[in-house]
Amino acid sequence: MIKKDSVVTLGYILKKGNGEELDRSNAAEPLAYLHGHGQIVPGLEKVLGGLAVGDKKEVTVTPQEGYGEVIPKLKMKASRDKFPADANIEAGMQVTANMEGDKQTHFTVQGVEGDEVILDGNHPLAGETLHFSVEVIEVRQATAEELQHGHAHGAGGHHH
Ligand code: ZN
Repeated sequence: MIKKDSVVTLGYILKKGNGEELDRSNAAEPLAYLHGHGQIVPGLEKVLGGLAVGDKKEVTVTPQEGYGEVIPKLKMKASRDKFPADANIEAGMQVTANMEGDKQTHFTVQGVEGDEVILDGNHPLAGETLHFSVEVIEVRQATAEELQHGHAHGAGGHHH
């Protein structure tokens, strides 16, 4: 049964609220995570507790319990001269900036308009209601090393 400090291997299909499929696991690439350590979105983690191998579940996750709401102030423009002159700035690039309070925020470049770069610091799935179809494939107790690292090792987990 899944409880805190279980290493859980999941099969899953992830869809947006409009039914568009975003991601699915396959047998070669299962997802393994350490339960109770915030490795997966809170709305999914909370319903997996207590499930056992072979259990299947349909889970709807609101933005608040998923990747958060869209924060308008994280959509911004920055002057092109804030970036290295030789950098090839293009849509889809990831950049990191220090926001107020020295908080590091990751931005995705949306495009370049004249001498301004359009940036979005929201998670690509912010504001989305998500639907997960999950199947529990394996549950085991975490090793001492996994607990120390705060993530699962092995197939579908973290590789060092
Ligand atoms: Zn590790």
